[in-house]
Amino acid sequence: MFTLNALPFENQALEPHISEKTLSFHYGKHHQAYVDNLNKLVAGTESENLSLAEIIRQTAGQPDKAAIFNNAAQVHNHDFFWQSLAPTNSKKELSPEMSQAINEAFGSFENFREEFKNCAVSQFGSGWAWLVKDGDKLALLKTANADTAFLHGVKPLLVIDVWEHAYYLDYQNRRADFALALIDNLLNWDFAALNFQN
Ligand code: MN
Repeated sequence: MFTLNALPFENQALEPHISEKTLSFHYGKHHQAYVDNLNKLVAGTESENLSLAEIIRQTAGQPDKAAIFNNAAQVHNHDFFWQSLAPTNSKKELSPEMSQAINEAFGSFENFREEFKNCAVSQFGSGWAWLVKDGDKLALLKTANADTAFLHGVKPLLVIDVWEHAYYLDYQNRRADFALALIDNLLNWDFAALNFQN
């Protein structure tokens, strides 16, 4: 049985950038539904006792396992998304190592901000925009639907959920505004630095 991991903050902790209403639906309904669907799909199968990552790897690219893959990967991606964010009023500072890596890969933080926003906006339809470590360099990656970065031979550091359910109540069609609000106010750079080192 998979369970819904606890959120690392309160439902109102990301306001005004992500409203309590959006967060309670996104976590309590969407994320919960992926967990519930996954449990129903793997009940009584050989996948039941595997880890989430093992299920994702074993079902990736297999059309007859698409439902299991989609729900497992969405559980994983949402867990990673919540960890990628930190409360509005928390201190957010890039480590010297992260700062240097950003400058090396993108030229400046300002360029990174623009490119990460463009990555989020240019994902056609539902998906995810990732900051990843590719070898020892930073890079951006967009994935469609439930697809997840670790299947692409890179290490995910941070992710932005660009499914409409992530922003529609607060931003309607303005995905760029949502992405910039997260980049400017909510990204958890301590989490990124931890992933970067490991
Ligand atoms: Mn979502």
